[in-house]
Amino acid sequence: MFEQAVQFSEAFRQGAGQMRGSLVPALKGCPHCNTVHMIAAPSLGTCADCGAEMKVLGPAQA
Ligand SMILES: [Zn+2]
Repeated sequence: MFEQAVQFSEAFRQGAGQMRGSLVPALKGCPHCNTVHMIAAPSLGTCADCGAEMKVLGPAQA
């Protein structure tokens, strides 16, 4: 009984961690002109200003 509760809470904790991770706003940035945008599409695409490939930015870099 107690063991099941522990397993459940562990699974819940992992699930919550994944959910929290997906809620972090994903940003993409242009290495050329330092433009930062929210990632709104599955593909990063290129910078609208200079055409360079956009790079994914972590929360620490944003
Ligand atoms: Zn650019």
